Amino acid sequence: MSALGRRLRRQFGPFQEIARTAWQNRDQPGYAWRILNHGVCDGCALGTAGMRDWTIDGIHLCWIRLNLLRLNTMPAFDPALAMDAAALAGRSEADLRQLGRLPAPMVRHRGDSGFRPISWADALSLAAARIRGIDPQRLAFYLVSRGTANETYYVAQKVARYLGTNHVDNSARLCHAASTTGLKRTIGFAATTCSYRDILESDLVVFFGSDPANNQPVMMKYLHLAKKRGTRVVMVNPYREPGLERYWVPSNVDSALFGTAISDRHFPVRVGGDIAFVNGVLKQLIANDWLDRAFIADRTDGWAELEAALAEQSFEELEDRSGLSRAAMLELARLYAESDSAIFVWSMGITMHRHGVDNVQAIADLALARGMVGRDGAGLMPIRGHSGVQGGAEMGCVPNVFPGGRPTDEGGARRLAEQWGFPVPAWRGAYAAEMVDRAHDGDLEALYCVGSNLFGVLPDPDYVRRALERIPLRIHHDIVLNPQMLVDPEETVLLLPATTRYEMAGGCTETSTERRVIFSPEIPGPRVAEARDEWRVLTELAARVRPDGAERLAFASTAEIRAEIARVIPLYDGIERLAREGDQFQWGGRHLAADGRFGTADGRARFVAVTPPERRTRPGRFRLNSRRGKQFNSMVFGERDTLTGADRDAVVLAPGALERLGLSPGDRVIVRSETGELAGRAVAGPVEPGTVMMFWPEANVLVPRGVSDEACGIPAYRDAEVEVLAATRPAGPVAP
Ligand code: SF4
Repeated sequence: MSALGRRLRRQFGPFQEIARTAWQNRDQPGYAWRILNHGVCDGCALGTAGMRDWTIDGIHLCWIRLNLLRLNTMPAFDPALAMDAAALAGRSEADLRQLGRLPAPMVRHRGDSGFRPISWADALSLAAARIRGIDPQRLAFYLVSRGTANETYYVAQKVARYLGTNHVDNSARLCHAASTTGLKRTIGFAATTCSYRDILESDLVVFFGSDPANNQPVMMKYLHLAKKRGTRVVMVNPYREPGLERYWVPSNVDSALFGTAISDRHFPVRVGGDIAFVNGVLKQLIANDWLDRAFIADRTDGWAELEAALAEQSFEELEDRSGLSRAAMLELARLYAESDSAIFVWSMGITMHRHGVDNVQAIADLALARGMVGRDGAGLMPIRGHSGVQGGAEMGCVPNVFPGGRPTDEGGARRLAEQWGFPVPAWRGAYAAEMVDRAHDGDLEALYCVGSNLFGVLPDPDYVRRALERIPLRIHHDIVLNPQMLVDPEETVLLLPATTRYEMAGGCTETSTERRVIFSPEIPGPRVAEARDEWRVLTELAARVRPDGAERLAFASTAEIRAEIARVIPLYDGIERLAREGDQFQWGGRHLAADGRFGTADGRARFVAVTPPERRTRPGRFRLNSRRGKQFNSMVFGERDTLTGADRDAVVLAPGALERLGLSPGDRVIVRSETGELAGRAVAGPVEPGTVMMFWPEANVLVPRGVSDEACGIPAYRDAEVEVLAATRPAGPVAP
């Protein structure tokens, strides 16, 4: 695609999306409109109330929400379609999703060619009979974060613990567990410290490994407004994201016509080189005394140790590990020193590493060195991709923390048992990737998935498939079909049709990136007759497995769940009063630590001295990096990325690297790692010379399994060393 074509696509693409959405939802225009107008967006975690927010005047709407809308309005598919699993198994995730909503509970036993409908009563009896008597260590629950309500998370983890297991996790494990852990260790809060409105008031916004243009599009509107006010924007990323260079905000006339130049400076850091770069910037701050010494002395501990550790790290070493010069480190330090306020935003370019927690701690060091927490225009912001990510961990839907933030030890279990009235297991459960390992080893007998597609998002998909095939009972409670459901049963696979968040009787809540707990009302409209709320099914199943104490799980409504959340999770005091459209509150207020007290036991923040990892890439090899295109997390909406014009098989290399390999743009290539290989087409792009950039999740076939950040269990998606080889057959030209 030509540069002009790409530009026109980016400039006018949003208007095409509106037209396409109207066409896709033409059978339910009223319902679609009511969802947009009254529901809380089920896309990313910026959060809305209808098409408004708490940051800007005017409309808050983007192409992600428009693309997701059809999931909520489409009818169910004909159950006869699911009778031939082999035929469905050849289809892509996108094809399966577009078939329609899951129509009814369905079952497939080992040897069956497909699924057949059964009644809810039979489905739950079958599941309960298989789960009853299972060693709780062999039972696990996993929840997706897209659209998942706080109420669902809370009930799911309570059911898991009622059945005796802490093997309960959610998909935030795969994206922001490093943020949660790193922030808890440094500032004592596992959340964004500021609010979106601070973006509009900040002097400097630094994005580390983050691409909001693709993943949180309305953030670009915030940045457009911030730029008008004079905010400087910096990108630290191995890839120069085109959406952060220039963006056309469709609802701002001047930006829609001429575009907005967003980024003032791009630092092309090496994959895995962020700590080295940040430490270099810290050394420059120290050398020039561009620090907030009073803040450091009054509110923090560990500065002397950090300063001593940094003194041991030479600039030469940091340059080598970051791929950036000492002058670049000084440049960012100076930009920072010239700013009275700064916000540090990061995403999966920072967290999806084997040292993701260290990455986050280094960024926290950078913010604390100049007192950028607890005041206007300043903060730390791990920006979230799924609307349910923030709430999942806070509801305790994780294997190592109970609701309320208590660890899964004897003390935490005892306290929770007193509140709930039944024994609670006191051991750390398995992280998502560990559940798959257990399944692979034959140590998992039943897995209950609320949404999710583990097969599509974890490293080494072949391994995940083999693991899923060894689980005797798999239950997939979801709104549409996806590839993991079609993995052959070891004994039984049950598909259960779920309601969407807009169909939940009594409404539900989500927690946004800025800690805003927002009520999303039930929206009147057509229903899939057999679809049921996940929380109701989970409690009914638990009651059938263990009737003796089932009254402890008996919620009559989502309002009752919210009332219990308020009692068990002190941060969520106030959720019990959310009952109508527009109701919301922001736990912690606009700023965390606004009074100078951090969330640690003594109220002081902690500097952590972090050693930059040394990852040598062999000569001629590259470090694999991945990004999202026209997609929402693992749901791909288009074969071509609107922002870059690249197709899904693009293998992006620096122009010099292409030349060195004797390749031309458009050549077919094979990308190979120790785990697998993937065919694609070479594309020249603005990427750091030692990096190859591909689309996620396709690139997962190259990512080794079993490598993760030990501190948080996040798989090391950015750890693969790959080689790029010319394939024999030539291909036509592709977009640069
Ligand atoms: S930016 Fe995020 S919250 Fe806002 S409309 Fe888009 S997907 Fe929804």
